[in-house]
Amino acid sequence: FDEIMTTDQEIADAIKAEMERQNSHIELIASENWVSKAVMAAMGSPLTNKYAEGYPGKRYYGGCQCVDVVEELARERAKELFGCEYANVQPHSGAQANMAVFFAILEPGDTYMGMNLDHGGHLTHGSPVNMSGKYFNVVPYGVNEDGVIDYDKVLEIAKECKPKMIVAGASAYARTIDFKRFREIADEIGAYLMVDMAHIAGLVAAGLHPSPIPYAHVTTTTTHKTLRGPRGGMILSSNEMNEKFNFNKAVFPGIQGGPLMHVIAAKAVCFKEALQPEFKEYQAQILKNAKALCEGLKKRGVKIVSGDTDNHLMLVDLTEKNVSGKELEKRLDDAHITCNKNTIPNDPRSPFVTSGVRLGTPAVTTRGMKEEDMDKIAEIIAMVIESEDNVEAGRKMAAELTEKYPLC
Ligand code: PLP
Repeated sequence: FDEIMTTDQEIADAIKAEMERQNSHIELIASENWVSKAVMAAMGSPLTNKYAEGYPGKRYYGGCQCVDVVEELARERAKELFGCEYANVQPHSGAQANMAVFFAILEPGDTYMGMNLDHGGHLTHGSPVNMSGKYFNVVPYGVNEDGVIDYDKVLEIAKECKPKMIVAGASAYARTIDFKRFREIADEIGAYLMVDMAHIAGLVAAGLHPSPIPYAHVTTTTTHKTLRGPRGGMILSSNEMNEKFNFNKAVFPGIQGGPLMHVIAAKAVCFKEALQPEFKEYQAQILKNAKALCEGLKKRGVKIVSGDTDNHLMLVDLTEKNVSGKELEKRLDDAHITCNKNTIPNDPRSPFVTSGVRLGTPAVTTRGMKEEDMDKIAEIIAMVIESEDNVEAGRKMAAELTEKYPLC
């Protein structure tokens, strides 16, 4: 950090301000986390200097003997962690991992099904503004009136549109996803099942959410959410599926150039950490904290989409409150609680305003917070929902918590 200060004061100041913001705010963005010092160090290592187009043993550049070791370790650990035969650790992000799978399995114009963005799906699962929606014929599915995936309806839609692939997985869905049921639906109509487990990958690695690996033809993930690694993506499958569709070729040279070897090293460190028993305890605490936050909100009269959470996140339904998602996000930020506005199923407001906020517990759990702290956070959120006048009192309560759990 001292070296950044000497070379570039403006960037150093911005980083310092961000470090202070992270320390003084309670982080409830469900997709964010704090990486370990070892993961951070790997990302800032000299591996960033190395070009390594290709794969271990088959590179287009010389001098790759050391980075080959790194990528092999990352691949082997990923396979061990998730119990699969094939792993590609090169995707720069979750969006790239998804794009590579689409590139490998689908032709432009093919039909596939993905979860509606407004119902909790991800932008890269067929939104019209994304490549995944522009180049293919996307038929969305969603949740029922109770806010849970309507599997019978998924089957009905699938029988009608006969997709080549069904994408399961979400960004704002708080309930356990039944991957077995998804596979049965896919088999019934002869489609491939792709699972994007980005949000729940840490829970899956710890055995606390059913794994998609036995059911999905191909699984994608990010490495930076519950999994607590560097920003990045990954593709997992059987050898048979990879032989059929050549995911390696789809990633490079298909959609990417040189891999980020420093990030791949950080992924390897993250997977090693995730293979330790403490990681399971951490994931179990994420779940306990999510339950405690959810209960704390409900007992204070705050409605939760689908009424509960089975994982690390929940969606607050503000339709009966006098505040939009956009306004609540701003009020909470002023109270030093960071979250994001989010549409709720059948949201009466636009995606820029929304009637919900998404809350998640991976980052506060890394910080060391426990169930009683979640109840305090629920109290602040409920107060701030009720009135903007409570923001200042909320900020004082938030400061007590951030001071109790300083980031080092
Ligand atoms: N897939 C899901 C389910 C996600 O929630 C996200 C990110 O939020 C992504 C993919 C995209 O990941 P990235 O931002 O790394 O491209």
